[in-house]
Amino acid sequence: MSGERRGPPPPGAVKQITSLANPIVKDIRGLALAKNRKASGLFVAEGLKLVADAVEAGWHIRTLVHAGNVGSQPLVSRLAAATHARGGTVLSVSEAVLAKISRRDNPQTVIGVFEQRLTPAAAIKPATGDVWIALEAVRDPGNLGTIIRTADAVGAAGVILVGDTVDPFSTEAVRATMGSIFAVPLARASAAEFAALAARWGGTIVGTHLAATADYRAVDYRTPVLLVMGGEQAGLTDVAAKIARTLVKIPMAGKADSLNLAVATACMLFEIKRAVLKL
Ligand code: SAM
Repeated sequence: MSGERRGPPPPGAVKQITSLANPIVKDIRGLALAKNRKASGLFVAEGLKLVADAVEAGWHIRTLVHAGNVGSQPLVSRLAAATHARGGTVLSVSEAVLAKISRRDNPQTVIGVFEQRLTPAAAIKPATGDVWIALEAVRDPGNLGTIIRTADAVGAAGVILVGDTVDPFSTEAVRATMGSIFAVPLARASAAEFAALAARWGGTIVGTHLAATADYRAVDYRTPVLLVMGGEQAGLTDVAAKIARTLVKIPMAGKADSLNLAVATACMLFEIKRAVLKL
């Protein structure tokens, strides 16, 4: 928000809403549905710091929703000014309206409606030092959000969603990222686009597979690394297993036949980072 005009938006630029039936409220609530997110290219993020950081990082905010008196909250006031300066709408709403939008009893005091960003697979340029994660057919939004958060924590270059995957911009996935949705580049690839990307990949492509015999700590990882994870239900497909130049397993004791996808991804990422970047 640095360099923006300071102070609250001029009178009239802020819409006051107290009616639960207001059509703008209805539209924002509608973004809980995948078809509306797809049609509009928008998504919702909650939380003052998270929304402020996203705006600071250059994400396009269409609507800022806040409850309470802006004048008494300097950060909200600056955020409102930045939203207004970028052509966005600022809504001042009642607690009841905010709770209705967020579908929570104790909602955050600020909600932002942002434009989605997804990179096409063809635009990915893997560079030395990069670690990318490819997720095949991930179904659980909580897993996807947790993986994006973990990717952020290890400084991964981005996450590639391969095939038919859950929407990373769903409310549940965005909440699980804890703000990392704004920090980690996301790309989408069909199976064919993923195969083309892998064919031009210069470094290690490692797939995780329960039937693999190689230990995940025994690989000579060379960047750029492409880590390929299978879906929660079917695991890694045969096609993706062939694309991966190395298949590894995380050894397990006990009766569990597999790890949760997000947990397995975290184990892999920290091992790869330890091996290649000494993190
Ligand atoms: N029923 C699935 C199967 O047979 O593969 C289980 C999938 S598991 C819940 C989801 C993904 O996490 C797997 O496809 C694999 O990529 C990874 N994974 C889970 N546990 C693993 C382990 N011990 N070693 C390697 N990868 C693992």
